[in-house]
Amino acid sequence: MQTIDRTRLATLMAREQKKYLDERPKSKALFDRARKSLLAGVPMNWMAKWAGAFPPFVREAQGAHFFDVDGHRYADFCLGDTGAMTGHSPFAAVKAVEEQMRRGVTLMLPGEDAILVAEELQKRFNLPYWQFALTATDANRFSIRLARQITERPKILVFNWCYHGTVDETFITLAADGSSGPRRGNIGPPVNPAVTTKVVEFNDVDAMEAALHSDDVACVLAEPAMTNVGIVQPQSGFHKALRELTREHGTLLIIDETHTICAGPGGFTRAENLEPDVLVFGKAIGAGVPGAAYGFSQEVADRIVARQELENCDVGGIGGTLAGNAVSLAAMRATLAKVLTKEAFDRMIPMAERWTAGVAKAIADAGLPWHVTRLGCRAEYLFGPEPTNGTQAHDAMDFELERFMHLFAMNRGILLTPFHNMALMSPQTEAEDVDKHTKVFREAVRDLAA
Ligand code: PMP
Repeated sequence: MQTIDRTRLATLMAREQKKYLDERPKSKALFDRARKSLLAGVPMNWMAKWAGAFPPFVREAQGAHFFDVDGHRYADFCLGDTGAMTGHSPFAAVKAVEEQMRRGVTLMLPGEDAILVAEELQKRFNLPYWQFALTATDANRFSIRLARQITERPKILVFNWCYHGTVDETFITLAADGSSGPRRGNIGPPVNPAVTTKVVEFNDVDAMEAALHSDDVACVLAEPAMTNVGIVQPQSGFHKALRELTREHGTLLIIDETHTICAGPGGFTRAENLEPDVLVFGKAIGAGVPGAAYGFSQEVADRIVARQELENCDVGGIGGTLAGNAVSLAAMRATLAKVLTKEAFDRMIPMAERWTAGVAKAIADAGLPWHVTRLGCRAEYLFGPEPTNGTQAHDAMDFELERFMHLFAMNRGILLTPFHNMALMSPQTEAEDVDKHTKVFREAVRDLAA
């Protein structure tokens, strides 16, 4: 098995940093200017973390590609970390948004699109009632609040190294000694998340059972396969146990399909016949136009309605003036009807299979102890063996190596999802893009081993 020579890695990284800088004078100039008006020179805190000295500034994006201001063309496998899994600016969504923009953006009143979207979501996920939010984060937050309200229980349960957006309760990690506390980098938590949250390892049924035993857990918030610490697949029997235990203990099961929608038109839930009480779907649902949906079972809906007080229903911590706005719903309606269709998945999934096969062969040829896995149209490589839980996946991460792989790829016209090694296929991703990635990945691995 090959191991990575750190001195060589540092030399290669310096070479790639120089290449990146030399070839992007216009992005550099914009970044220098941005630093005078944007904190750390970027509009969002984590944009500072891209592998180059500054991020490439984007000129325009279409389908599976974008151009930066220096004229470089990239095959985009990041796709806005799933927001643009539809491909950038798909025609149907653009048309629907353009038309709606002319007819009113936001009114605090419903239109027919809200019903059309809810009806389509009913078919896809087999849950009868739907609500809208602007982000998956909000949809998760609102689902948690409702779960706490109707169960009258204080705690939630999440899996170690999960990510569900900027939801305070979820920024908790589990230490090797079994204690839990704020996740590394947690900014200004309102309380120690151990007060609000129990955390166990994914695939650990015994730990889950122990955590649910005291009947104080309102809900489990889970991605059906973890996707934010590399991909961690559920082991056989895990979902059955999760559902049985949550039912047995009166705990609601919230499945967050925001990323795992990559498994098919009805996400992992439909592909594997899961039976969540609440389901969340954000990001790609409106082709990246801000919008998210959360749906409920009949029983949960009945319990919510039984507690609704008309006089107070506008102040309960669930809201958003712009949530359910007409443009967001028009984008969702068009995206669900015309873009994220079964036919689209029939193209996207084989592309991810091709991507995975290319990377797997390159890893094997190089004799590296790495691993590549796939979930529908999403694939990811990890610098270690296949993980069964968040800790194993997290331990296999290698910040330096990851930055090198990303920068090497960016310098050769490929964008991977940052902060792990993920690739997502859009309906417009071509075999040519995938093969280009395979070639570049092989070159990076070869350079590392030389
Ligand atoms: N759920 C999952 C599984 C996510 O990965 C994310 C963001 N990466 C979110 C929810 C939150 O999405 P947003 O940042 O759009 O609110």
